[in-house]
Amino acid sequence: MATIAFIGLGNMGGPMAANLVKAGHKVVAFDLVEASRAQAKTDGAEIAASALAAAKGADAVVTMLPAGKHVLAVWNEVVPAMAKGALIIDSSTIDVESARAAHALAAKHGIAAIDAPVSGGTGGAKAATLTFMCGGEEGAFAAAKPILEKMGKKIVHCGGAGAGQAAKICNNMILGISMIAVSEAFALGEKLGLSHQALFDVASTSSGQCWSLTSYCPVPGPVPASPANNDYKPGFATALMLKDLTLSQDAAKAAGAATPLGQHAQEIYKAFEAAGHGGVDFSGIIQHVRKLAGTP
Ligand code: NAD
Repeated sequence: MATIAFIGLGNMGGPMAANLVKAGHKVVAFDLVEASRAQAKTDGAEIAASALAAAKGADAVVTMLPAGKHVLAVWNEVVPAMAKGALIIDSSTIDVESARAAHALAAKHGIAAIDAPVSGGTGGAKAATLTFMCGGEEGAFAAAKPILEKMGKKIVHCGGAGAGQAAKICNNMILGISMIAVSEAFALGEKLGLSHQALFDVASTSSGQCWSLTSYCPVPGPVPASPANNDYKPGFATALMLKDLTLSQDAAKAAGAATPLGQHAQEIYKAFEAAGHGGVDFSGIIQHVRKLAGTP
């Protein structure tokens, strides 16, 4: 079994690394935070003194970090020290430009690379049911796939360098817009005297059907497992949704593509976060939408 270095053991990376251990890999892990390192040790990983020490001699390196600047800093540290023929995978959600710069760095050192952001959240990370959206060359994808299969259930090759990140931010732009659309429908329904259940029963089996409604309904009741039933505890926090909507707007600007609804969704989530709700699940946006609708 391959030896895998895992760098970034937060809410997502911690359980992902644990699943690689469960699958029988030797995992050498590193995070800046002591508590995350201790948890990884409990989960069966070996702890390295630095990212560099973790990556030396590994067959593959996985990074799961907050943003593009962290990924480029870690890749700049580890890629030159990696064994020839090794593979590096970044599963963080980052800007397309940084992802392409990371690929170029790996290519310069003869290291195979894949950008492989995920969807499925912390629940998917724990249950090894994540979807991975991958960008990179065919050979690198083929090498990464058996590793990603230990942490996810759907692995999609989206194209060349950065294509995984492009797919991720396009998907989450749909999600941000659709959650606001569903919330507006419930806010209007409330003003029209329509019960939540009646609107759900109709829209969930009609042309308004979408994931934001049927899997993640922003009002309590119709979908018992949705965060609305748990005081809007994340789940997927508003701050992370705003991060992804901002990445999609940055990419839209760089590509010269107008995405007016994506832009509006970013503004709405920005206002919700500025009001102190960054830690609330993103479906909590219905509280803000109700205010916009003039619901007392
Ligand atoms: P997190 O903040 O919980 O974890 C990030 C970890 O990286 C932290 O433990 C931090 O200490 C560590 N780190 C930062 N710089 C480091 C460095 N130089 N060396 C080693 N460790 C370093 O974040 P998360 O929720 O695990 O998310 C990770 C990535 O996955 C983000 O890009 C996020 O957008 C994306 N993502 C998150 C979710 C989610 O639901 N949480 C879902 C999909 C994608």
